[in-house]
Formats: sequence, structure tokens, C-alpha cells
Amino acid sequence: MDAQVSFLDQLFNQGILHDSGVDGLYARSGVFEDVISKFEAFALTFGQDEISEAMVFPPGMPMTDFETSGYMKNFPQLAGTVHAFCGNDHDHMGLIQCIAEGKDWTDKQKATDVALTPAACYPLYPILAKRGPLTADGAYVALQSYCFRHEPSRDPARMQMFRQREYVRVGSPEQAMDFRETWKQRGQEMMKILQLPHEVEVANDPFFGRAGRMMGVSQREQELKFELVVPVNSTAKPTACMSFNYHMDNFGKAWNIKQADGSPAHTACVGFGLERIALALFRHHGFDVETWPEGVRKALWG
Ligand code: ATP
Ligand code: ZN
Repeated sequence: MDAQVSFLDQLFNQGILHDSGVDGLYARSGVFEDVISKFEAFALTFGQDEISEAMVFPPGMPMTDFETSGYMKNFPQLAGTVHAFCGNDHDHMGLIQCIAEGKDWTDKQKATDVALTPAACYPLYPILAKRGPLTADGAYVALQSYCFRHEPSRDPARMQMFRQREYVRVGSPEQAMDFRETWKQRGQEMMKILQLPHEVEVANDPFFGRAGRMMGVSQREQELKFELVVPVNSTAKPTACMSFNYHMDNFGKAWNIKQADGSPAHTACVGFGLERIALALFRHHGFDVETWPEGVRKALWG
């Protein structure tokens, strides 16, 4: 790979992604999307019979549920909320004029009851909570969502809008932990088949501020989060392409999800960064999918 041309520019030059002028916001080509959908189908061949239901979420979630998630406490720097024009005719005239003059026109924009979804599993928990206590089997949901994080970057693996495919287990502490350990193994099996160099390591979320640093340390000490990392962008350290999280009963308590015996449910999720996995495949196997190794092509295209 030509070290002089960044991976991002190579992706643009090859027509795999298209530049929008905003870092982290790209149009995807048909080829890129095909790789993602084939990867999702491949992922489903692992433990498909364990899934109790599937859901796909829109990229926004209810503001009230977003508040309940605690996201603004932990990651205010990454959040995005949807605002809309709420003025009168006069305000509208002013707005148009400001745009024409290149001035700030957003002062009449007011927060709506929609927040951009920061993590694919958040919209699931309130839906489960409304159903009442879980059965002894708990819940095992396959889901997908576009997510937003305000972290503009020239690293193509750090987008502002990207998709997570997740499997979420909700039930007893044992069910949640067993699930996470199983997927840690499966994630590595999947990467072996896709011939991507990888490692699994303890990780922490990017909690905000000084208090946040302590939370990150505590999360690591308790081994609540693991990431499967793959070198994607040659100039950066390996990138988290999958994460394996155990939330204990934090979400069960926050959203009031109950186990069959009435105690707060424990939750775990495995998240696949779909764009990151596609980028890892292009990075390691080349820009032409026709020339990818036989085993990789077979796993994805059959
Ligand atoms: P990182 O440490 O790289 O910021 P993260 O720990 O914040 O990632 P999670 O919150 O665990 O990531 O999100 C689940 C998965 O979503 C990650 O494993 C990754 O594959 C993907 N992901 C996270 N942030 C981004 C992003 N900005 N662009 C593309 N994919 C992302
Ligand atoms: Zn999750």
C-alpha cells in the first residue's frame, strides 16, 4: 500500500467510499454495502438458533430513553440530538437571511424529542422493559442500527455515522456472562475464517472528564469490556472492530427490566462495527473483492 496516500484517500480514489466534505460522513459504494450485507449473513451462521428475535432501529431514539441511558453523564462529548425550526414567519425570514449572509441561523432551532442513537442496543431496553418480567429463558435479540458519535476524524475507521450489528442477551448474570464468553470465542473464529489479524484485549469506554478517567480504570479492573482489534489504518493503532460488553444490572436498573424472579436483569452485548469490518477486509485483502482469498470469498459469497 502506498504510504504517501492515506487509506481514506485510497478508498475515495477506488470509489469504495465517497467524500462528503465532512470528516466521518461518507457515501458507501455498492461494493462496500455488498461486503457489509454478506458479513451480516456470515455472522448469522454463528448461533442463529439461539436468537429469540430480531430488530432494526432507525438512527434516532426517543429523547427520554436517551436520557435514561445516562449517555450525557458518561459521554456528552460524543452525543448528537435532533433540533428543528420552531419559529414563526418573522423568524423564518430572519433565518433565510442569515443563511444567505453566511451567518449563524440556528438560534431558532429547538431540541425535538429525538436523539441520534449512540449505541445500537439502547433503543432495545425500554421495549423489553415494557413487556414486564422476562421468562426464565431471558431475551436474546439480534439487532442493527445506524449510530452517531461526534468524533470527526480522517481515520476512515472513525466515522460519525456508522452501523453496529449487535447481539444482546438479557437475563441472569450467568446467562449474560456465558453469552459474552461464547461471543468472544466466536468473534475470533470469525476473524480467522476472514483471514484478518486480530487480538482480543481488555478495553474501556471513552468516559468524559476527570471522573470519567476513574470510571474507565474501574471498567478495566472489572473486565467489563473487551475489544477485538484489527490493524485497519496503517498510521493508527489497531482498531476495535468488535466489542464484548457486560453491563451487570446497570441497564436492568436504569430501564426497570426484571428477571422472572423480579430482580433487575443483567445485560451483555456483542457489537460488530460493520464499516470497520468492511474496511479491515479491504485493507488486508485489497480493493478488488474478486481477488480476495478463496476462503474469504467462500465465507462471504458462498
Ligand atoms: P473506540 O474505542 O474505537 O472509540 P468504542 O469502544 O467506543 O470504539 P463501542 O462503543 O464498543 O466502541 O462500539 C461498538 C463497536 O462499534 C466498536 O467495536 C466498533 O467496531 C464500532 N464503532 C465504534 N465507534 C465507531 C466509529 N466512530 N466509527 C465506526 N465504527 C465505530
Ligand atoms: Zn450494546
